[in-house]
Amino acid sequence: MSVRVRFAPSPTGFLHIGSLRTALYNYLFARHHGGTCILRIEDTDRTRFVEGAIEEQISSLAWAGVTFDEGPHVGGNYGPYTQSERFDLYREYGMKLVDNGTAYYAFDTSEELDAMRQRQQAAGIAPKYDRSAMRNQYTLGEDETRRLLDEGAAHVIRLKVPLHQDVRFSDVIRGEVIVNGREIDDQILLKSDGFPTYHLANVVDDHLMEITHVIRAEEWLPSTPKHIILYQAFGWEPPTFAHVPLLLNPDRSKMSKRHGDVMVRDFARKGFFPEALVNFVALCGWNPGSDNEFYSMQDLISSFTLERVNKAGAVFDYQKLNWMNGEYLKQRDAQDLARELHPLLVERGYPHIEPSYVADVIVLVRERVAFLSDVVEFADYLFGDVLPPLSDEASALLSGNDKISVAIDSFRKGLVPSVLEDADAFKGLAQQSAEAAGIKMGALLKPLRLVLTHREVGADLFRTVQLLGLERCLSRLDAFLSPS
Ligand code: GLU
Repeated sequence: MSVRVRFAPSPTGFLHIGSLRTALYNYLFARHHGGTCILRIEDTDRTRFVEGAIEEQISSLAWAGVTFDEGPHVGGNYGPYTQSERFDLYREYGMKLVDNGTAYYAFDTSEELDAMRQRQQAAGIAPKYDRSAMRNQYTLGEDETRRLLDEGAAHVIRLKVPLHQDVRFSDVIRGEVIVNGREIDDQILLKSDGFPTYHLANVVDDHLMEITHVIRAEEWLPSTPKHIILYQAFGWEPPTFAHVPLLLNPDRSKMSKRHGDVMVRDFARKGFFPEALVNFVALCGWNPGSDNEFYSMQDLISSFTLERVNKAGAVFDYQKLNWMNGEYLKQRDAQDLARELHPLLVERGYPHIEPSYVADVIVLVRERVAFLSDVVEFADYLFGDVLPPLSDEASALLSGNDKISVAIDSFRKGLVPSVLEDADAFKGLAQQSAEAAGIKMGALLKPLRLVLTHREVGADLFRTVQLLGLERCLSRLDAFLSPS
């Protein structure tokens, strides 16, 4: 039987990083097995619907390279299936359960339900629908139930949970799960407005869409016993379940905005490479069984197995993610990076810089930054002609010592085109200039960098001078030696 999985987000917000990981695991599992991965929008709860969320989630998934194989809107991209377009179907299936006695009508008002919860709370018992005490098909009897229905009384359909039975299922990640029926609530399946709840729509769709493996977040684990009962009630074979552990903050609390970004689009806006984020997120909770930390999507597809997903929550280490992004920055093709940097350069007022020059700058400074966009901040002196003013400390350092001016003057006089072509000639000139002023070469290099870049730190000075070119170097040296 070929593998069929689904990613089933609700459009209640933008794509969370944890949801990206769930989607990714589904995608990797499907690709690994040559199966099918579908996207299904679970928008049964209209009160939590966020405008634009579906579009944003789909575009964040596409940005990350997670794609889907099937769906109603064929052409270019597939999908998604959308539950709100299938409401009649769920009602039809919900009523089948009423007919076969595994679900029932309940007529309780919200006040009656509140009173029930208060009674339970006062008695110190967990809140749960009290089938034998409330107003439903069983307590009212068939005739009264029929009468109320004919009268058009508001009602819901609830699942009749078998009370004295253990519900069992085997989770690929968590092993055997057993819950006693007594602990499971008689879940509402169809609401009083006729809309289905998540549970009914989810199970009906997983069955009709022939889903073989349900890979989803651990927070859905408590719902699974209800789903198993639903499968039994319909007489259907349940799929295999795999509940993926939570992503945690460094203090092991549930990952939240307070500790940093949590939305995929925030990571994208910060300048993370999708490849780096995908690599990192895949390893949050999945152990590849090797020391290698770098995995392309293709590598992930070949190595991914559900058996290697950990049970324990996975700490999301922002620093490590930054580091990984920096590693991708070092490895990626510099010409491609130059192309990607172009819009930012335009925005910063450098629209006409040659892509090959930009690539050279990237190669020079990328060891020292974690983000492509940092290249523009870090090496602004290689892009613009006008330098920002020197810091007070830098001005004091440069003006407080005559020997430095003498050495820089001598360096300026010796700076001819051939010096820019040869690292040894550059070093020789710096050496001679320092000696002429009676200082050590080391004492010249920092002031020289300050004059040429207005920065105390930077990449290799010879390469910097080479990229600046003779003209820009001379004009910066002159600006220092004879300020206007
Ligand atoms: N709609 C649920 C969510 O928003 C999906 C749960 C499932 O995958 O079954 O996460």
